[in-house]
Amino acid sequence: MTAIRAACVIGWPVEHSRSPLIHNYWLKAYGIAGEYRRELVPREEFAAFVGSLAARGYVGANVTLPHKEAVLPLSHPDERARAIGAANTLWLDNGVLHSTNSDVEGFLGNLGDCAPHWDRNLGKAAVAGAGGAARAVVYGLLTRGVRRIAIVNRTAQRAEALRASFGERIEIVSWDDRNETLADAGLLVNTTTLGMQGQPALSLDVARLPAHAVVADLVYAPPVTRLLAAAKVRGLRTADGLGMLLHQAVRGFTLWFGKKPTVTAELRALVEADLRTAET
Ligand code: NAP
Repeated sequence: MTAIRAACVIGWPVEHSRSPLIHNYWLKAYGIAGEYRRELVPREEFAAFVGSLAARGYVGANVTLPHKEAVLPLSHPDERARAIGAANTLWLDNGVLHSTNSDVEGFLGNLGDCAPHWDRNLGKAAVAGAGGAARAVVYGLLTRGVRRIAIVNRTAQRAEALRASFGERIEIVSWDDRNETLADAGLLVNTTTLGMQGQPALSLDVARLPAHAVVADLVYAPPVTRLLAAAKVRGLRTADGLGMLLHQAVRGFTLWFGKKPTVTAELRALVEADLRTAET
């Protein structure tokens, strides 16, 4: 009897993770005999857990808070995970544990689906936030050849750290000037936690953006943030955080289960319904 291929999401906490819903949907949809589980692992047990993945029957894993940075020295990170300073996807290959950061293709894949040719003649992108997610977004934008990226972040030092990592195509704009920088931004991305359920909205005036601009929000609960709603009212193209969440899962599933899955409307509706249940 062949062992079932299994993967998991490792976090602390981990109950909120939608990864099991996504991967188990695909396993069923493609008739693959596999399993995807949650593993609640505290910081002090993380290194030992990662070291015993194979012994536990896992072919790979997702890593979520608070382990995304800690996993780098415990694995062989690829170039993008090193540049971003965090990984969220692990896989074993001939006993060697590799890691990558799939938020990059999650962001770019969703943006490409929602706003085809978003990068055509794009002069400048504006990114709100300078945390872990911003690093993945900036890395992705730079690989697509975006020439100028304005970072607006409440804490200036964090924006400066991002510029120190990614170089002179990054411009730092003070939080107070966040609306002024929108006038020539063909793309606006919210990578802050603002707009999330229970958090204040991100106060950015989408009326300042050019008429061809695209607005992306990484926040996925709620799926339509106030920022995205305002952009839609203005007739701008938008890309939401739920789409990114679904797209970032494609890489892990492909690596672990040998099939590149499709992000379908049915899967999206399933996760959206689950997010709605959690809200109530
Ligand atoms: P993080 O490292 O903690 O960064 C949080 C960011 O939000 C920082 O830039 C922080 O600014 C800013 N912020 C928080 N509260 C603020 C406030 N009151 N006013 C102004 N700025 C504030 O978090 P992260 O890992 O980058 O995640 C950021 C968001 O992206 C979260 O909502 C997360 O769920 C989402 N995300 C979504 C996906 C997806 O697949 N859709 C993937 C990854 C992340 P300071 O530096 O000033 O604190």
